[in-house]
Amino acid sequence: MSSASVNTRVNTADGGAHVTHRPLGILAALPQELGDLIEAMRGESGVRTITHGQRDYHLGTVHGAPCVVTLARVGKVAAAATVSALIHEFDVEAVVFTGVAGGVATEVRVGDIVVANALLQHDLDATPLFPRFEVPLLGMSRFAADAALAAQLAAACERFVAEEGAASAARFGTREPRVHRGLIISGDQFVASAVAVKALRDVLPDALAVEMEGAAIAQVCHEYGVPCAIVRTISDTADDHAPQSFVSFLTEIAGTYSNAILRRFLEARRAG
Ligand code: SAH
Repeated sequence: MSSASVNTRVNTADGGAHVTHRPLGILAALPQELGDLIEAMRGESGVRTITHGQRDYHLGTVHGAPCVVTLARVGKVAAAATVSALIHEFDVEAVVFTGVAGGVATEVRVGDIVVANALLQHDLDATPLFPRFEVPLLGMSRFAADAALAAQLAAACERFVAEEGAASAARFGTREPRVHRGLIISGDQFVASAVAVKALRDVLPDALAVEMEGAAIAQVCHEYGVPCAIVRTISDTADDHAPQSFVSFLTEIAGTYSNAILRRFLEARRAG
């Protein structure tokens, strides 16, 4: 076991020993997407920070759940490297990614929430050797999120919308959030034109949202047999307005959504 692991053997007062719960890995690409999670951890259990591969991993308990919280930074390689470290250095039991994304399906609007059922790399193309989107030698293009974990995450999103959706819409000038479940697509591109997003819609008609990390995380988790789930708040609709919409959503709204969803998700996990 790695020295950094928080899955430690604890000696109890009666001389016996038990193994504490393996932590949950929680990651985002950008600091705003984590909201106040690390501060909440600091207040609850204190934070132990371990730097590994140029990333800070924050270990502690938050909303009653032992967690390792970190930032992947942007893109598929960054995400794959970070989730790999969460698995190998920190022995996480499961991985949850929280962040923002561009809406692809026309019914997915700014302020909505998408919980992935499956993820695909839209920029992976080894044709004609392999079918478009297929990961060569793995024989797969779509990676499923863990059904139970995704259901818990979606339930937390639904509770947030029921309890705070109207207030959040009024506060941020968005429509009342809707929770969607389905395909999230990932690639090493910030999609920011009507033409580009239409092309994605045409080739992947069931895609709900586009971002830059999720499918890489889902692939690594699949390969190591670690459950993962991905939740994305829609910051933009991947069209020509995307850069401004993304920046204002990220700075003003993303943290509020993340706090609200993760608190409900982690509290339910502790209770369950
Ligand atoms: N330098 C920028 C990088 C942001 S890239 C910054 O720090 O502000 C956009 C991030 O948001 C990625 O992590 C991606 O997963 C997500 N995202 C939001 N809207 C997106 C879109 N339209 N296309 C691709 N990724 C998007």
